[in-house]
Amino acid sequence: MNSSPFLINGNPVFPRISSRAKQLSLRAKHNKAYVEVVIPKNYKHSLHHISQFLKEQHLWITNQYNAFSPNIPFVDQLLITVEDVPLTIQHIPHSRAVPSISENKLLVGGKAEHIERRVKDFLKKRARSRLLDAVSHFSQKLHISFHGSIRIVDTPSQWGSCQAHSQKLSFNWRLILAPSFVCDHVAAHEVAHISILNHSKEFYSLLNSLDPHTPKARTWLKQNGHSLFAYARDSR
Ligand SMILES: [Zn+2]
Repeated sequence: MNSSPFLINGNPVFPRISSRAKQLSLRAKHNKAYVEVVIPKNYKHSLHHISQFLKEQHLWITNQYNAFSPNIPFVDQLLITVEDVPLTIQHIPHSRAVPSISENKLLVGGKAEHIERRVKDFLKKRARSRLLDAVSHFSQKLHISFHGSIRIVDTPSQWGSCQAHSQKLSFNWRLILAPSFVCDHVAAHEVAHISILNHSKEFYSLLNSLDPHTPKARTWLKQNGHSLFAYARDSR
């Protein structure tokens, strides 16, 4: 199948073939601001059938495109909030030092076109260290000996994930731009999954006891989470 997009109300929907998918489905890729249609590898119906499916879903697709916030690139003088501290990105062209924080500035050296990548790398490191601390804090509270690993990723809609057996936790780097209680809450959520894999009542009562900010953090993510995907979006 050729990979040019379908156009629905003027918005592109990009096809992706999946060997795991069982049926046609739609995904909003918030980190890159586009919608894709997932097509099972052995899909037997025609292209026309896919277009028909997309036409039926046109309202959902249009709503997704309307909801994507415009891209906010990391540039000189942009104000961001990192671990509750407002920081203005300040470009220092002649410096080759790695980004660092000084008072309320995030100083970034090197060429202007590399600011975004350097800030992103800096924030990913920050995210890793904060989330590692939070994971070890919450595992101790649950009397779990954490021997796993954490990965910092840029998933399109998920904040975290957990492979309970191997204790492999993944977190979205953008959490470092959320209030700290939200970032820590996602760590608590994934640590709680090491004990209980599903989202049952038992899971949420464990999570509530582990992290008292749970209701507040969940509300924050529902209302504001999508705005974090606007920063430094990779193009498709
Ligand atoms: Zn979960």
